[in-house]
Amino acid sequence: METLDHWVSGAAFSGLSTRTAPVYNPAVGTVSREVRLASVADVDTAVQAAKAAFPAWAGASWSKRQGVLFTFRELLNARKLEVAEILTNEHGKVTSDALGEVARGLEVVEFATGIPHLAKGEYSENVSTGVDVYSLLQPLGVVGIISPFNFPAMVPLWFFPIAIAAGNTVILKPSEKDPSAAIWMAKLWKEAGLPDGVFNVVHGDKESVDALLEHPDVASISFVGSTPIAKYIYETAARNGKRVQALGGAKNHMLVLPDADLDLVADSAVNAGFGSAGERCMAIAVIVAVEPVADDLIAKITARVADLTVGDGTRGCDMGPLITKEHRDKVAGYIDIAIADGATVVVDGRGVTADGDAGGFWLGPTLIDRVAVTSDVYLHEIFGPVLSVVRVASYEEGVELINSSRYGNGTAIFTNDGGAARRFQREVQVGMIGINVPIPVPVGYYSFGGWKDSLFGDTKAYGPDAIRFFTRQKAVTSRWLDPSHGGINLGFPQNA
Ligand code: NAD
Repeated sequence: METLDHWVSGAAFSGLSTRTAPVYNPAVGTVSREVRLASVADVDTAVQAAKAAFPAWAGASWSKRQGVLFTFRELLNARKLEVAEILTNEHGKVTSDALGEVARGLEVVEFATGIPHLAKGEYSENVSTGVDVYSLLQPLGVVGIISPFNFPAMVPLWFFPIAIAAGNTVILKPSEKDPSAAIWMAKLWKEAGLPDGVFNVVHGDKESVDALLEHPDVASISFVGSTPIAKYIYETAARNGKRVQALGGAKNHMLVLPDADLDLVADSAVNAGFGSAGERCMAIAVIVAVEPVADDLIAKITARVADLTVGDGTRGCDMGPLITKEHRDKVAGYIDIAIADGATVVVDGRGVTADGDAGGFWLGPTLIDRVAVTSDVYLHEIFGPVLSVVRVASYEEGVELINSSRYGNGTAIFTNDGGAARRFQREVQVGMIGINVPIPVPVGYYSFGGWKDSLFGDTKAYGPDAIRFFTRQKAVTSRWLDPSHGGINLGFPQNA
């Protein structure tokens, strides 16, 4: 059986650690390969390679770096089907969804190709007589990226194109559950002409993550994953003096007002609730139905769910399996909790017939009505194809519910009332808002990130925030060849 190596200095690297983890094909339920789990020494080897590559890469001209980015973009676009196939095999998401993930990652590469413009400083002439001030943006050094299982290509692509374009060198620690896409992208960088050591991949679990968090030569950490780990990453990296952004979990609500177009709402709820088997941080998990819409809406959603096909992602189905057997069982367990807490299970995905191997980690779309807001089904991030309905009496009650959530990643309002939508965007305490749009992932030239327990740190992912995150600013005050001078003055400098 294949054992997936790390990638260091432009080549496969097996490292010293003998620990490995199994990588499954979730549509079959069997182990397809093993992945190495790096030790502290293996992480150090990668960091030393990235550190050695940094001076030359940071010193390369903007146009040289931009050229490599353009080539990478062309290669990724031309060969996206190859990486989509890897995503389907290891994550389980259907081919069309895998291609969508790559397309959203490509947006960030395209944004990063504009780096000469994006990383321009400012210049003020004659701030004082004969004195100019200007700012420079310079790279940080070796940057660490730690990514989750649910977007093995897109989430790393949120960070590394901009980090690399800005002159940093990178260590990516992808999820050990679906690590192959990271290695595929590393090989693509080499083909695009990126110098060896600028982009490195280290596979691993907590040991490798902690090694990055503790390593004195790692300047920053960009993390995406569950909230408890995000909080741990944020606190540990900050304590070690690193710049850190840590994006966490979510529980996204869709507020449906009585004047909404219920067919649009039902389509959107099904797409955003069950796409990628609900394993998206921007999935809709809760429909907040302002009465009297709930009964009609549930009937429309139920009819649409009846037509959904679940199965192997390569066979043209709508929805694939969950990532592991343990995760499937955990998600299915929430259906028992819902029943025990008095909710009504309208559609139960546990009995699904899948178009795929009997051993696959299947769970069908599940719709649960009258979920109590005190139930764990409402309070916890389930991260599976389970859509809850909570009925409320008014817009105000709905917004209060959303604002009392510990999470603030994404939300959506469905209405034909522009005033209500405008009020919602002002009042709701969430980082990304959709108005009649169910998964409001911002385009690549805005930045992505939530509020509250959905993001720890001060900067969001990609877009303008990423330019700030992956650079350090210098302000230079200069005076040249002015024959006059002011003489001795120990007072604080003032402009004249
Ligand atoms: P996870 O937190 O289990 O793992 C994320 C990364 O952290 C992986 O690389 C993993 O190896 C590492 N890790 C796991 N346990 C660790 C530990 N104890 N110490 C140090 N590192 C550890 O998350 P996941 O299950 O891979 O991904 C799903 C989660 O990610 C969900 O909560 C989802 O909402 C979240 N997510 C958030 C966003 C966002 O933008 N906010 C995007 C995608 C996913």
